[in-house]
Amino acid sequence: MEKADIGLIGLAVMGENLVMNMESKGFTVAVYNRSIEKVENFVNGRGKGKNIIGCTSVEELAAALKRPRKIMLMIRAGEAVDHMIGQLLTVLEEGDVIIDGGNSYFKDTIRRSGALAEKGIHYIGTGVSGGEEGALKGPCLMPGGDAKAWETVKPVFMAISAKVDGNIPCCEWIGGDGAGHFVKMVHNGIEYGDMQLICEAYQLMRDGLGMTPDEMYEVFADWNETELKSYLIEITRDILKFRDQEGKPVVDQILDTAGQKGTGKWTSEIALEEGVPLTLISEAVSARCVAARREERIEASSAYAKKIEKLTGDRGIFIEDIKKALYAAKIISYAQGYSLMKEAAEHYGWKLDYGNIALIWRGGCIIRSAFLGKIKDAYDRNPDLANLILDPYFKKAIETSLKSWRKVVAAGAANGIPLPAMSAALFWFDSYTCEKLPANLLQAQRDYFGAHCYERIDCPRGETFHTNWTGHSGSTAAGSYNV
Ligand code: NAP
Repeated sequence: MEKADIGLIGLAVMGENLVMNMESKGFTVAVYNRSIEKVENFVNGRGKGKNIIGCTSVEELAAALKRPRKIMLMIRAGEAVDHMIGQLLTVLEEGDVIIDGGNSYFKDTIRRSGALAEKGIHYIGTGVSGGEEGALKGPCLMPGGDAKAWETVKPVFMAISAKVDGNIPCCEWIGGDGAGHFVKMVHNGIEYGDMQLICEAYQLMRDGLGMTPDEMYEVFADWNETELKSYLIEITRDILKFRDQEGKPVVDQILDTAGQKGTGKWTSEIALEEGVPLTLISEAVSARCVAARREERIEASSAYAKKIEKLTGDRGIFIEDIKKALYAAKIISYAQGYSLMKEAAEHYGWKLDYGNIALIWRGGCIIRSAFLGKIKDAYDRNPDLANLILDPYFKKAIETSLKSWRKVVAAGAANGIPLPAMSAALFWFDSYTCEKLPANLLQAQRDYFGAHCYERIDCPRGETFHTNWTGHSGSTAAGSYNV
């Protein structure tokens, strides 16, 4: 039998669909799964009559592949990946390539990349976005790792990825070791932010304006024809219209407890580690944690007799205000996410192409939107842009939305409607654009209780001073370092 072009391990929802996608593009795929009955079910079911070779061991898989072998893992992230790599090392040879397409933590990918390079095995950690449908019809792919292996896997990746603007693949080499998984992690963090902002807009309409799902459907349908056009706005529109067998809106029957798998949390943790304010995404992660504590919320709601007041005034005008607030806050979310990528790229020595990252996110993935084209344009105009909000297009968009954004956040605060992401974005904007923050007082406090010193407005940067605030604390200053 002819040998396979690529192998794939992990026949769950993502793996199966990626195999079908690869096969449909003319590649022969050898497949293996830990529970081997799934191999049989797949090759005799969906995979029947296709160029798919079922294997019941890693030895069989290795023997079924052309050299250098390319094996993609689509299995649960974490220890399972280390375990599977261990098994593969017993059958692979120098020059072979292992690709991890799961949602692995980028620091694990850095570690695995280094360890495998020592053994002459090329390792690629790739972000795969787009869920089940994306995997089948064209995902957004964010590969990173050992650049020597890229030319080997490129034809498969380019062929299976989503395409935008005619035929531009939503796949691009991201950078060394963990860069691909890092960028996928930030993508997921941004996805958390986008979803939370849409949910806040929904709650403003549902609880503040008392609108029905049908009425909100119309609003989201309208918004999807504007600069907000995106996959998440589109599915929100469709969700609001969806009825159960009794004709009730399904959205109203769903319990308000959010789940999460941890990629948003990782993004926030890394932002803290890198010292980058990522307030919107962090609030989106916390919002899911608050939502998950339903029983506590119900008790607190009753303890405070909490009631959301209805908003007064012109409904049409307020809906337009919400739209502008959503758009402005979304800009901040991406501005923060891009700042994190910039900082991490410096720290880890990756050369990220920010315009291209926006371009590949334009198709196949969950955050795909017209908006990303504007980010690509911004980085084309200035690849060294210090912050997205300084780009002329986004500056104008924020200026146009600012009044509405403030109005919406104020209305939420006045009426008890929680807007953690929209308000965090606004307060970040107000801090970032504030020439003089109150941190002079903060430095004085630090110096008062810990002799941490401060810099003066009338002296060169880096020269530090300590004041004996109490008259009895002496003149010894603490050592200076950042944690
Ligand atoms: P999943 O539920 O995350 O994982 C199930 C697969 O992992 C099965 O094939 C399972 O094999 C295998 N597995 C689990 N533990 C294993 C171990 N110790 N050794 C070997 N294999 C093991 O499946 P999924 O949703 O298709 O996702 C696959 C990967 O893609 C994950 O990393 C996920 O985070 C990532 N991802 C998922 C999505 C999505 O929308 N679902 C989108 C992008 C990326 P058995 O059949 O033997 O249990």
